[in-house]
Amino acid sequence: LREAAGEVDMRVVAQQDMELERGNKPGEPQHFTGTVWMLRCSVPPFGTGIHQVFFEREARTHWHRHPEGQILYVVSGRGLVQKLDEKKGTKPSEEISAGDFVYFAPNEKHWHGARSDSFMVHVAITPRSRAGETCWEEEVSPEDYSVASLKGQE
Ligand code: MN
Repeated sequence: LREAAGEVDMRVVAQQDMELERGNKPGEPQHFTGTVWMLRCSVPPFGTGIHQVFFEREARTHWHRHPEGQILYVVSGRGLVQKLDEKKGTKPSEEISAGDFVYFAPNEKHWHGARSDSFMVHVAITPRSRAGETCWEEEVSPEDYSVASLKGQE
């Protein structure tokens, strides 16, 4: 297996060598509300997914879960994150801005996106899992989004 640990040398992946793609491609399953642009850089040998994602105002992911969790680093702009607390039945949300890190636990149901008055760019680091791929669920409702936005303004 060429990707076995120790068989891949140091590697620089330049931005111009990454593919810029729309988050919502026509004809494919939709995982976002609004317009999102992604630069993808999947680095061997670990298969960790690394994406720089640009969310336009109001753009956000659908609710989803990552089998091994996820780390976000906010590069610029202002955004929102929200998780579902399945024990309490609540939906805690927080505002995020440049320089913040966010950690999502394995299988924690959540979404991330821009505020309604700002774009947001984050780098998402998603470990590969033997348990499978990211599990995409329903769209974030306008109600949940506006409640999260109001809370972010407190
Ligand atoms: Mn996520």
